[in-house]
Amino acid sequence: MPTKRDYYEILGLSKGASIDEVKRAYKKLAKKYHPDISKEDNAEDKFKEVLEAYQGLSDPQKKANYDRFGHAAEGFQGFQGFRGANARDFEFDMNDLFNNLGSFGDMFRGAFGQGGPRTGASIRHDLNISFEEAAFGTEKEITIPRIEKCGKCDGFGGEGSKRCTRCNGARVIRREQRTPFGTFVTQTQCPECKGKGTVVEKVCKKCSGKGIDRVKKKINVKIPAGIDSGNHLRLAKMGNAGKDGGGYGDLYVVVFVDEHEVFKRDGADIYAEIPISFSEAVLGTKIDVPTLRGEGTIKIPGGTQTGTIFRLKDKGIKDLSTGRTGDEYVKVIVQVPKKVSKKERDLIEGLAEEDSLKKERKGFFERIAKKFKH
Ligand SMILES: [Zn+2]
Ligand SMILES: [Zn+2]
Repeated sequence: MPTKRDYYEILGLSKGASIDEVKRAYKKLAKKYHPDISKEDNAEDKFKEVLEAYQGLSDPQKKANYDRFGHAAEGFQGFQGFRGANARDFEFDMNDLFNNLGSFGDMFRGAFGQGGPRTGASIRHDLNISFEEAAFGTEKEITIPRIEKCGKCDGFGGEGSKRCTRCNGARVIRREQRTPFGTFVTQTQCPECKGKGTVVEKVCKKCSGKGIDRVKKKINVKIPAGIDSGNHLRLAKMGNAGKDGGGYGDLYVVVFVDEHEVFKRDGADIYAEIPISFSEAVLGTKIDVPTLRGEGTIKIPGGTQTGTIFRLKDKGIKDLSTGRTGDEYVKVIVQVPKKVSKKERDLIEGLAEEDSLKKERKGFFERIAKKFKH
């Protein structure tokens, strides 16, 4: 993720400032940077930045999560939860893939030289692995169709060399064409020796002089822990053999990671949503949550709001480049039961008579009504 500026810093506030302070700072800065009236440089970008900071801090739940985890709390944006992948995720992965493979265009070049041995073409192989395999690493056997050098003649098509009888060693065939305008001479590459001037003395019986062997090659690929969708592994010299004894191209294994039914991943961090009941949210509880390494526990304090995020440190995935292990973020979702038993209904009705929320809301409406009187 690109590094983003701290929301409080953007608004010119100190960390943990109140929502009222956030609103005041936003009003002031929005006026200052509004693209229609501002004379500042990059007013539009600054305005957007201020707006985003305001949106992240003016909502009590978002602010609470931001105060605890900073921008990491935004990993839940676009969360698919238990529903799995959709088309947009896939498109994103595809873009990611082609960004990572920026130099892929060069991969199949190199086979167009003139004469002499040429390095063979590279091969691309797409490999699907599970979320857990990507997290912990794995070893996979893959089978690829591959051109290898003939084992008998080592790619040369036979033994020894002698002068080509067709072109007499000249590498080219000359043709004279007589026309009413004179005689034209055309020169073409000798098809017998393909421009080398020599041919093998004893043609290899195994490959009939072609020098190559088409095989289905089995290869064990070691997938490192922490690999992500769109990453690729390069296996040097595991591509196709070149012509006339030329070297081997490379094999590129492009990895695609399957969606997980519980976790979503963003770099080294993983995200999950866990439902809790209304009474658990009110009274507080301890719940078991799934992690990549068995069960974990989180303590839900009494009065927890829906959307609150908890962190399980070091329960994420190892970052391939830094070696840091990510964290797991669990967002609790307070569920409203769709059906209740008779006993539950009686209890909830009793609760409704005592409902402090209703009183709070009544007070809220009264405050608003007062405002409009002025
Ligand atoms: Zn051969
Ligand atoms: Zn020839």
